[in-house]
Amino acid sequence: MTTAEAFQQNVLPTYGRFPLVPVRGAGCRLWDETGKSYLDFCTGIAVCSLGHCHPRLVEAIRKQAGELMHVSNLYQIPQQAELAKEINEHHVKLPGKIFFSNSGAEANDGLIKSARRFGHKRPQADGSPRYEVLTFQQSFHGRTLGSMAATGQAKIQEGFDPLLPGFRYLPYNDIAALENAVRPETAAILLEPIQGEGGVNTATREFMRAVADLCKKHDLLLLFDEVQTGFGRCGDSMAWRMTAPEIQPDGISWAKGMGGGVPIGAFWLSDRSIDDEGTALSSLLGPGSHGSTYGGNPLVCAAALAVVQEIREKDLAMNAILQEVRIRSTIESWNLPVVTEIRGKGLLLGIGLDPARIPTPVGKTPALVVVSALMERGLLVPPAGPNTIRLLPPLNVTDSEIDEALAHLFAVLSGF
Ligand SMILES: *Cc1c(COP(=O)(O)O)cnc(C)c1O
Repeated sequence: MTTAEAFQQNVLPTYGRFPLVPVRGAGCRLWDETGKSYLDFCTGIAVCSLGHCHPRLVEAIRKQAGELMHVSNLYQIPQQAELAKEINEHHVKLPGKIFFSNSGAEANDGLIKSARRFGHKRPQADGSPRYEVLTFQQSFHGRTLGSMAATGQAKIQEGFDPLLPGFRYLPYNDIAALENAVRPETAAILLEPIQGEGGVNTATREFMRAVADLCKKHDLLLLFDEVQTGFGRCGDSMAWRMTAPEIQPDGISWAKGMGGGVPIGAFWLSDRSIDDEGTALSSLLGPGSHGSTYGGNPLVCAAALAVVQEIREKDLAMNAILQEVRIRSTIESWNLPVVTEIRGKGLLLGIGLDPARIPTPVGKTPALVVVSALMERGLLVPPAGPNTIRLLPPLNVTDSEIDEALAHLFAVLSGF
């Protein structure tokens, strides 16, 4: 039985899967079961920040697996404390506290629960709790009932109603639409500094500042979903700093690149006080209020610590900026009519495609046609919506690997 057949018989068909069967990886390279090699600019959707099987990450996992993999959060876990300290001191660089989850969706659920707690502590004028979280159209926050309800895309929610109530979706980058958006029940605004799944859309500085001002004015929590953008991917450890470094968020969620391939997510809450008694926002989730059996266990924390320290010590965020320049200037110099624009920052880049120039068989988007042609040639990239392909190489990608990928891109895109 082939892998594809075993899938068909035994695994729920929630993903439209390519016929590719990857079996081995090293750095930027991936090999399939036939021995064909690929340049991997998908990296498990921005997960393998150090590439595949980076020696420091492999060694951290090997060592921790041989010592202690899992204990309950009923006990003190040194690797979890050390990872939280590293993230607070060197990545967020603002006073706050972290909860570890296993995925981005769970991290966002944690932020949503935090907003609800905040809405109880700081209620409406009539004493009833605030609960509403404003999010944005084309956003993606995950697939759990909470994070799916936060996601501003009808196709993600189709057939799963009734949705968790308490969300409203505003147009992204539309400052005028913020004007009358806040209602008495509104407690928070959640946004991606760059929308990844929604097509690689970057929030403008003016928009981010307008959102932050609105939060100040109406006593709302400002929450950033950095699940895809965080930890160096966009040219700074935190993507919001690339756009508006003066902004201080109240909450942040992460997953994807922070673990380099092990399942880990997290959310952060600021220590700032939310009332005249000096109650810290980060104190609202006290003992018994939230939890996760696996969350932050020794194995995943040791792995994530190796990843985020490697990103910091090698200044891989800077490499992301340098490679962005290389990619943008090369693609712009081609002047290809099929390329409408390049969006994003660092190594979260979207290449917009002109759908009118790409013949599509039924059921396939222009982006999927290009993704398949690139895969055929040996370059793996994911789509981002129907008319955009994404480039998500490892953060330690080299000049020559970038040039190799660009050659594949030129070969395919110049054909349209
Ligand atoms: C991928 C993603 C999520 C969901 O993360 P999972 O680990 O798949 O649950 C949430 N927010 C953003 C911005 C993402 O890109």
